[in-house]
Formats: sequence, C-alpha cells, structure tokens
Amino acid sequence: MAIVSQNLKKNDNDLDVDAFRSAMLDWYKSNARELPWRVHFGERPDPYHEWLSEIMLQQTVVKAAIGYFNKFINLWPTIHDLADAHPDDITKEWAGLGYYARARNLHKCAQIISREYNGVFPNNEKDLMLLPGIGPYTSAAIRSIAFQKPSVVMDGNIERIMCRVFAHKLPLKDSKRQLYEFASYLSQDRTDYPGEYAQSLMDLGASVCISSTPKCMRCPIQQFCQAYKSGIQNDIPVKKNRVPKPERFGVLYFIENDKGQILFERRSDKGLLANMVGVPGTNWTDDAEESLTETFIPDFDISHTFTHFRLKLKGVRLLEKKQNDTNKKLFWYDPNEYVKLGLPTVFLKAVKQYLKVVKTR
Ligand code: SF4
Repeated sequence: MAIVSQNLKKNDNDLDVDAFRSAMLDWYKSNARELPWRVHFGERPDPYHEWLSEIMLQQTVVKAAIGYFNKFINLWPTIHDLADAHPDDITKEWAGLGYYARARNLHKCAQIISREYNGVFPNNEKDLMLLPGIGPYTSAAIRSIAFQKPSVVMDGNIERIMCRVFAHKLPLKDSKRQLYEFASYLSQDRTDYPGEYAQSLMDLGASVCISSTPKCMRCPIQQFCQAYKSGIQNDIPVKKNRVPKPERFGVLYFIENDKGQILFERRSDKGLLANMVGVPGTNWTDDAEESLTETFIPDFDISHTFTHFRLKLKGVRLLEKKQNDTNKKLFWYDPNEYVKLGLPTVFLKAVKQYLKVVKTR
C-alpha cells in the first residue's frame, strides 16, 4: 500500500477512488489517442514497443516520437535486432532527439535484455531499475502498461493533474513527493486496468487538463477536482520564478579544401555529445572573451539550448587545417551530404547555417 500523508487524509478522505478511476477508464475507452505503440483497451502491448516509446518520450513530444518510433521499429523489429545493431547506426537514427547518452543506454539495455534475459523484459521493479536508462518513471510505465502490474506512473502531465485535483498550491518542482503520494492514493495497488488507467491520465493531461488553460467543461473528473471547485484551476500549478540558464560560448572552424569538403570530427567518447560527429572548434566556456582565442572575423552565429545551458557559437570559414589534436578523429566530408552523418542538432544547425553563408557569397 502506498504511503499517504496526513495532509491528504485530512483533506481528501471523501474522494471516491473507485468513482474517480471508473470515470477515467470510461473516458479513456472513447478518447484514447491512437499511437503506434499502443493496443486496444484490455490488451497488452509488446514490452519492447512500450519501453522504446517511453525512452523516446523522455526526449520529445508525442507527435515527434511517432516518426522516430516507426523508423526504429522498421529498422529493428525486435529487441534482438536492436541489440545487434551498430552503435553508430543507432546514434545516427537518434539524431535530432538530443541527449545522446540515452541512445547509448538504449543500445546497452537492448543488449542486456537480448543476451541475459533472452529477449524477455523483466516485470519487477528491482530488475527493471537495474537496466541502463530505466528510472522510476519508465519502470512504472513498463510494469503498468506492458504487464498490467499496479504501479504509480508519474510524468509531467500526471503531476499537473494531481496538483489540480488536490488543489496543491506549491510549485511542481518543490512537490514531487507530495504529488507522488496523491497519485499513490488514487492507485492504491489497484489491479483493475493499471495500464489503461495510467494512459488515461497521460491522455487527459495532453488534451484536456493542459498546462495553459484546462478544458474543464470536457473533463471526466471535474466533480473530483478541488481546483475546479474553487475556481483556481488556471492558477495551478503555481509557477516558480525561473532562473535563467547559464550561457557558454565557443567557435566552430569550418575548414575547407579545394574539393568543396569541410573537416568534420568524431568527438571523444567522454562528455557531452560523446562519439557523435561534429565540427572541430574551441572548447565551450562560460567566458565569451576567452572563447575567442584567435583573431578572425566570424562568418555567422549559431545558438542552441541544451538542457542545462545555452550555447552561443561563432562560425568561421578557414582555408587550412587549424587544429592538430591527434585525439580527435578528423575527416573530410561534403557538407551538402550532412544528412548521412547523423549530426546532433547543434551541429546540424551549424552546418545548415554554413551552407547558407557559402551559397550567398
Ligand atoms: S476539472 Fe479542469 S483542472 Fe480539474 S482535472 Fe479536469 S481539466 Fe484539470
């Protein structure tokens, strides 16, 4: 049984959990989104599909994840196929989703499931959480959706719904434990369609209880929602003042040869964008002046936002090789063929910008 705080018991002992869950499941029967990794109500999806979709959804929105999911399933129809794939092919197909450590963990996880579990995903939390790239959320999602085991699934959408249903007046970031208790209270180790129930909350958060202005008139749980009853649904979750992301700066060298090629590099196997293909340049530092180690006139600017910082780069065209770092694997390549390189987004932006500049000069 999940832990329930005193606060929850005091305020919400009249919330009818059976009625709440029935309302959600009934709504889901006729409002579930059709997604390529989903199956019909009452059926269990392939755990491989469920796992793959959840890993992708950690990186992008549902609409974008559909294309990536279909591509991966076409290329690697089973977990064994994915386990046997070349790591470069996986990172190449992952390009655009960002945070490439996830792609590497995806591959490692597939290899463990294929080789140590004979292709069968474990259905208990302990073993799932030991797998690379699987944390509490993904583990709970796989257990409830693929195996119909009672689990408390908490994503951003579900946190927002919990906040509103219980009229919780603290910012989301400060309320993780409390919101988990709310969700546990409504889950209560229930075995009646735990996967469908979790997905019903995900879908409600995506289409009705949305972050801007919730569509309460269409909501199946309006009668249970304390924020709605108090007329404060638009003010919850309470916003926390955002701290601006730090900035980093650097220079990219677009070194050209007389065949119209430029120099690319295979980045080192450690750190940000490890093992990915990029464009050589300076280190990325928090000092804008320090990043400009040489005197030149930049040809263009590139901006990119990572999870933890904003990056501002200067792009400069050079006619000869400027770097002699033997640790980096450098190679000449036609920049017009950049699609074949599976560049991470920051370098994709940079190369596109470079091509624009070349064409106009
Ligand atoms: S009534 Fe409104 S605020 Fe409450 S859960 Fe439904 S959509 Fe969200």
